[in-house]
Amino acid sequence: MKPNSLPLLALMILLMCLACTAFADGDAPDLVLKGQIRPSENHTYHPVPFTVPANVNRITVQFDYTGRDQRTTIDLGMLGPDGFRGQDGFRGWSGGSKKLFTISSTDATPSFLPGAIRAGRWTLLLGVPNIRPNVTAEYTAKVWFGHPGDPAWLPEVLNPPLRHEAGWYRGDLHMHGAHSDGSCTSQSGRQRVPCPLFLTIDAALQRGLDFIALSDHNTVSQMNDIRELQPYYDRLLLMPAREITTFTGHANLFGSDQPLDFRVGSATVPDWNSLLRAAAQLHGLISINHPIRPDDETCMGCGWAPAKPVDMHLVQAIEAVNGVDALLPDSGIPFWQHLLDQGFRLTGVGGSDNHDARQVVGTLIGTPTTVVHASELSMPAILAGIRAGHVFVDVQGTRDRMLNLTAGVGAQTAQMGDAIHAAAGQKVRFTVTATAPEGARAEIIVDGKTWQPAGVDLAVHGTLSQSFDWPGDGKRHWIRANVRDAGGNLLLVGNPVYVND
Ligand SMILES: [Zn+2]
Ligand SMILES: [Zn+2]
Repeated sequence: MKPNSLPLLALMILLMCLACTAFADGDAPDLVLKGQIRPSENHTYHPVPFTVPANVNRITVQFDYTGRDQRTTIDLGMLGPDGFRGQDGFRGWSGGSKKLFTISSTDATPSFLPGAIRAGRWTLLLGVPNIRPNVTAEYTAKVWFGHPGDPAWLPEVLNPPLRHEAGWYRGDLHMHGAHSDGSCTSQSGRQRVPCPLFLTIDAALQRGLDFIALSDHNTVSQMNDIRELQPYYDRLLLMPAREITTFTGHANLFGSDQPLDFRVGSATVPDWNSLLRAAAQLHGLISINHPIRPDDETCMGCGWAPAKPVDMHLVQAIEAVNGVDALLPDSGIPFWQHLLDQGFRLTGVGGSDNHDARQVVGTLIGTPTTVVHASELSMPAILAGIRAGHVFVDVQGTRDRMLNLTAGVGAQTAQMGDAIHAAAGQKVRFTVTATAPEGARAEIIVDGKTWQPAGVDLAVHGTLSQSFDWPGDGKRHWIRANVRDAGGNLLLVGNPVYVND
């Protein structure tokens, strides 16, 4: 080795280490606290101090110890920098009931108290109800620190996938409960009350959904309920969301539990672009809601009416089908397609906008259903599937209707949301597949206009699998499919395959 290669080697090792830190981000704990509990500590409290650095807004602890088979029992609590003296010093006590808990400004695992996370010396407080005279226990506490701007799916240890298989997952991306203006009749039927989240969840499960986004207006207080309910409801992904609700339009932000200043038109948030740039820092996903609603006294601020042009590159999805607007012709589809025509790749999604989990007619949870192809049932995978456009909307929210559009040119293949390149004169082979009631019919939309491939029958006889060629002209196009029933009503809305995008 040449002498001058040593600095290079050091640099390479440094770069490799930076890479491994980045790779391990979200998975490896920030601290590992290890220690022993000795027999002499029976019936005492054992403090484990640790330092919380500045700019931390969540502490997550996973705790384990040896000796359970010898009846060793260690209880668990948490104290902030002021201990029992300060107003927010005591942060909870779980006895021996929790192996994993989190505390943040918005939410905490039951037994623990949400609130500000101050930098300083915190204490994991261990209590020892029992350790035998001849036993020494080894404990390990892994500690993860969260930071402002972290997405809601970190740390991963708190948010394991509910299912590991890739597949089509059905969900509702828009609803309101007790944390905003969702209400339902109380148990006795005597009054209307803020509708508790478990009723929303039960309604979603009855509809056979795999995920729901809890999009209360402008708040993140639903996070604390999610923290309690998600471990029990381990077949339904509860996705943190909020409906950013302004005087000039509504948009959902998915996948973030962080506060966001929504006051568009104020000194701090002069316009929608500044709000959307702040939202982008939170790593969530933005969808413009019910864009064609009126903006008047029937629905104040509901229509999409920003005072200045909005940079649509800061938006990832459009609520093409809203449950409340379902009776309006095509809901938000013309708005969405107009943006597709302008060259934006925006995913068309649906949301019920349910405000009463117990209602039996009208905008039921799951009507419409957004169906997402995801690598697993987890928050980041569902959001990645939506971002990618691997999505169709089941307008009536059934359990079994399907729609897909794939394309191939030579060795290239694409599914909904993907792009494919086709030179002028080159044929693109499309295949539309669908499951829908007898009498339904698929339609192909090219750049916003219905296009009937010559000699191809698009009638759905329970199922449909039909291929056709589309002549490329070397220019940009977007091509998607719908399915309508015999009466012409929309049943399924597919996302585009983009050509030459
Ligand atoms: Zn709204
Ligand atoms: Zn809403």
